Amino acid sequence: MSFPIQLADHFNGERCAISFELFPPKTEAGMKLLETNVERLKAFEPSFFTCTYGAGGSTQSRTLDVVERVRQITKLPVASHLTCVGSTVAQLRDYLAEAKRRGADYIVALRGDPPKGSESFQAVEGGLRYGNELVALIRESFPDQFGIAVAGYPEVHQEAPDAQTDLDNLKRKVDAGADIVVTQLFYDNDDFYRFRDASVAAGIDVPIVPGILPVTNFKQAQRIAGMCKARIPDAMAAAMNESDDADHQFKVGVDHARVQTIDLIENGVPGIHYYVLNKSDAAAQMLDGLSLGAQSS
Ligand code: FAD
Repeated sequence: MSFPIQLADHFNGERCAISFELFPPKTEAGMKLLETNVERLKAFEPSFFTCTYGAGGSTQSRTLDVVERVRQITKLPVASHLTCVGSTVAQLRDYLAEAKRRGADYIVALRGDPPKGSESFQAVEGGLRYGNELVALIRESFPDQFGIAVAGYPEVHQEAPDAQTDLDNLKRKVDAGADIVVTQLFYDNDDFYRFRDASVAAGIDVPIVPGILPVTNFKQAQRIAGMCKARIPDAMAAAMNESDDADHQFKVGVDHARVQTIDLIENGVPGIHYYVLNKSDAAAQMLDGLSLGAQSS
């Protein structure tokens, strides 16, 4: 494998590229578990891993701990997520320099959510207001040093007045230099297909990668759906609620994600990004024996 692989190039092959998203564990034990699960997920030949970025100071250095560790374990490219929350431009540049030093190949460039207790997002003095400004900053300050992914919203971002405005804003991020769009999780593929068609019609010409979360119980599905504003289809909710049994709910969640995956591949997506929440059981069951396309082993 030659390095660095351009981010968009992962999505040029016949095989549907897959990637896994992790978050920084709070404890050393959590990190050990993450390492075990990353080893297991590597068997599914992902193109890269990503690690989320929290709003507070401490989780930010832990993001880079995960980036460094996962790169050591897997020898695969790794992306650090980065948000504008609470940081000045100078601090964002410092983070990016440190991310480069510690081996991050790509950045998932985000505005971030308003901090807890705040109704709306407020840029700090000397900070940035929108995702497109962060993409522009990375391109200006670190030319050719990072692949850049940005977030897209099949069910429309919660603050956007309408779908078209949200798409116009997504296009700003692509025009500023993003290499790919990774979507918010969704449970109904029709939402993704509508979003993909509208994005293409709006002139967005980079790979659009659907984000899928294999949920493992109904409470979790509800909590995450609330946070991400992702609608749970009635049939999925009904199937999960047929029983409180943990194994039943796990199976329904994993089967749903597997059916979504098969349908997305049949509909020609270039890749799928899995929100695995540092675990591997659900992803392993979901991907077990699944053909991801021509180059799949
Ligand atoms: P933006 O693209 O800036 O959009 C935010 C809102 O502003 C939208 O309503 C948009 O329509 C509007 N807008 C955008 N640009 C403009 C403009 N120029 N003028 C006017 N309006 C504009 N959060 C974290 O805290 N950490 C993470 O690691 C993280 N990872 C994520 C990964 C993925 C794949 C996704 C989909 C989301 C992730 N999030 C993460 C959540 C994300 O931070 C929130 O969804 C946040 O509310 C929006 O971030 P954004 O980059 O999409 O913002």
